[in-house]
Amino acid sequence: AEKGEKPFRASQIWRWIYHGRATSFDSMSDLSQSLRTTLNDHFVLFACSIVRHQSSPDGTEKLLVGLADGGEVECVLLRDGDRRSICVSSQVGCAMGCVFCASGLDGVERNLTKGEIVEQMLRLQHRLPADERLSHIVMMGMGEPLANLDRVLGALDVARSPEGLGISPRRITISTVGLPVAIDRLARHAVPYNLAVSLHAPNDDLRNKLVPVNKKIGVEAVMQAADRYFDASGRRLTFEYVLLGNENDSVTCAEQLARLLR
Ligand code: SF4
Repeated sequence: AEKGEKPFRASQIWRWIYHGRATSFDSMSDLSQSLRTTLNDHFVLFACSIVRHQSSPDGTEKLLVGLADGGEVECVLLRDGDRRSICVSSQVGCAMGCVFCASGLDGVERNLTKGEIVEQMLRLQHRLPADERLSHIVMMGMGEPLANLDRVLGALDVARSPEGLGISPRRITISTVGLPVAIDRLARHAVPYNLAVSLHAPNDDLRNKLVPVNKKIGVEAVMQAADRYFDASGRRLTFEYVLLGNENDSVTCAEQLARLLR
């Protein structure tokens, strides 16, 4: 509209991007040539590049996405029956420092923008044939989504919008190591998403070692925040536990975990 175009042109362009899977302004065939030229002169449709694309025999596809400032993040498309799930990154690097994860080795560099998060979704959507749609989103790639909550929620607004990717919030999961203040903020958010808490240890001694950010939080506070989220949202709450040989896989750990989740 700032360029003197009718407001409905924005809806047309939006439709081309999210429903038409357009990869260039030139392919938006119901826009005038002059508008396409203006768009090419002033905007970029995709700000990132695909640095590497890996496919597995089971249909999983992994993209290494190059950001405009040289940073890199990964996102993944998983095929399982009719499901077309994507796993999306929220930050470059990660400050949580989980000992089993390469993403946190150098700490966090920066938060991704809303556009960079949405672009991962679109790039993965482009991997699907025209008659298939993305069905599920998990915010579980590089980074801690709740440490970049505003932009993650902004990107998920686009993902769930019927004019956007049209994915129901019931099929969207935010994964977190468990940051109570941010979990409470998420609980107050108007749109409830599924929450997955990465626990990885059933007591503070072990969790402080495996998930160092736990030293500032504690397992009890994480569990209480998760309970509050469930009470407020009514959405599915899951706990993730990476089994690490001779670290957190003892019978004692299993018994403690069972008591914790009861
Ligand atoms: S929170 Fe996730 S991305 Fe960050 S270090 Fe832990 S496992 Fe890796």
